[in-house]
Amino acid sequence: MGLALVHDDSFGQHDSRFPLDDLIQHFSFYKGIGAKTAQRLALETIMLSPEKVQLFANSLVETKKNIKFCSECFYLTLQEQCHICLDATRARDTVCVVSEPKDVLSIDQSKSYNGLFHVLGGVISPLDGMYPEALRFKELQDRLSKGVIKDVILALNPTVEGDTTSLYLQELLSRTSVNLFKLAQGIPIGSDVAYLDEVTIDRAFEGKQKL
Ligand SMILES: [Zn+2]
Repeated sequence: MGLALVHDDSFGQHDSRFPLDDLIQHFSFYKGIGAKTAQRLALETIMLSPEKVQLFANSLVETKKNIKFCSECFYLTLQEQCHICLDATRARDTVCVVSEPKDVLSIDQSKSYNGLFHVLGGVISPLDGMYPEALRFKELQDRLSKGVIKDVILALNPTVEGDTTSLYLQELLSRTSVNLFKLAQGIPIGSDVAYLDEVTIDRAFEGKQKL
């Protein structure tokens, strides 16, 4: 067979893009990752051994396939309930309400909080199509109706949407007997709870205010 008859899909496409463009684009999807960092991550990843790249790819696919929401708090887990809900050393009468799983990760590192969580799945933001029905308020009310939870701490981001959601919860829970708290002021307005440092989170919990 002559060379001219050899057909390979990669031949003749004359793709003038940088060969890592696709990979860089995947990394740049992440919040807080700029173009330079995405480029560096793509380059570092591609310099790994083929075995490590395969393990990385497998881990991504397998984790995505097997991970689900905890049936109790809606944090992430590979089982029915997450490791936080299953932890018998935690205070079961206190629940911290957050918007996203990443907030749990950040607050869980705080030494000032040892209770349970409730992940709403977002914040009220009609412009983005996020109405109260789309969030897990009903599930929170169901948990509270069991009578074990006494304290609820609202730890939503200090943004317009976060404040709207906190007010909505305040109204929703005003007829229950739970003590409602919000984190101490001092968290910068517009910031994201998930990216706060440990000291700021500890202070916010220590100085939590009763609503
Ligand atoms: Zn859980």
